Amino acid sequence: MPVHLQIEATRGSARAGKLITPHGEVETPVFMPVGTLASVKGVSQDVLEELDVQILLGNTYHLYLRPSVDTIRQIGGLHRFMSWDRAILTDSGGFQVFSLNDLRKVSEEGVAFRSHLDGSPHFLSPEKAMEAQIGLGADIIMAFDECTEYPADAQRVRASMELTLRWAERCKSYFEEHKHEVPWAHTESAELRSAGRTRASAPMRTRATPAVEATQALFGIVQGGMDPELRRESAVRTIDIGFPGYAIGGLSVGEPRELTRDIVESTLEHLPCNQPRYLMGVGTPEEIAQYAQLGVDMMDCVLPTRAARHGLLFTSEGKVSIKQARYAQDDSALDAGCDCRVCQRYSRAYLRHLYAANELLAQVLNTVHNLHYYLATMRTVRAWIRAGHLPASGVARM
Ligand SMILES: [Zn+2]
Repeated sequence: MPVHLQIEATRGSARAGKLITPHGEVETPVFMPVGTLASVKGVSQDVLEELDVQILLGNTYHLYLRPSVDTIRQIGGLHRFMSWDRAILTDSGGFQVFSLNDLRKVSEEGVAFRSHLDGSPHFLSPEKAMEAQIGLGADIIMAFDECTEYPADAQRVRASMELTLRWAERCKSYFEEHKHEVPWAHTESAELRSAGRTRASAPMRTRATPAVEATQALFGIVQGGMDPELRRESAVRTIDIGFPGYAIGGLSVGEPRELTRDIVESTLEHLPCNQPRYLMGVGTPEEIAQYAQLGVDMMDCVLPTRAARHGLLFTSEGKVSIKQARYAQDDSALDAGCDCRVCQRYSRAYLRHLYAANELLAQVLNTVHNLHYYLATMRTVRAWIRAGHLPASGVARM
């Protein structure tokens, strides 16, 4: 298997374990920070390592436009390009393309769109999205799907789901024929050695070198709008096509949060227990903890990084808008319960000043704290799941 989920503990529907990828192990359930343009905005890779980020997300649409897939492929893939030896997941580009409402045209073949940067015309299809993601070389890549808008009528949701299923088959056939073209296949460890890249800045950590036979993993995506029956059908038929992991897409598109939760819960029932389940594009710290408890293994969201750049910080006592004047004289730590490098060192007054003065450091420090908070939330959830098994073994040892 290109990736493999080892489930080591369960509690109710929740599971904790390890996702084994060609670029290392990822403790699950996991929150994946978003590095849209091969960068988590404002935070360098050594700091991401210090935060114990084990997997990052990159956006194919953005990288395809700038610097281009060819540029990254010729340098050896996204890992090497951005000097990140740990796991990476790329999306298919579909979500971004579908967000370009006035600049795109969908057909059976794919999506014609204009770049948001310069208006230049482009075309993405299932095959092209696979070609791009194989060229980028992430460990996990995503099928090219149509993200159904919300609200949408029943006929439209079904038609969209059927299109996504036809595209999923095309993605899989292209991927199976071309997966050996991944830039790091067979060569990465040798290349790294010959280039003398020591990666001395990386903390000591067992790093899995891609095995000779390692390939990327292509995940399927379940759609079906807000209809539990269509979600079930989409799950069953996507599983029939056969993927090493499954994502729940098409949520967080404007629907009420209770509905998101209901759809997630009902869709999870139809996904295989022994394979990774990825919920795309959610949520707040409370929500990611809830979804992990429902049995989701992987999540991503721009919220912690985007909110940080707007001075909105997540803390153990709720959200803090650091721009407020009330913090101007506040010498206390941002979050007394947080052991991140920002809370250990700087005061609310200083963070407020940096933000008010539009200092670059404000974005950096705010992002580091928010990412730490999200990652710590998932560490707590993992510990909670694993603690479910402790009493029994504890008794046995006594
Ligand atoms: Zn902190």
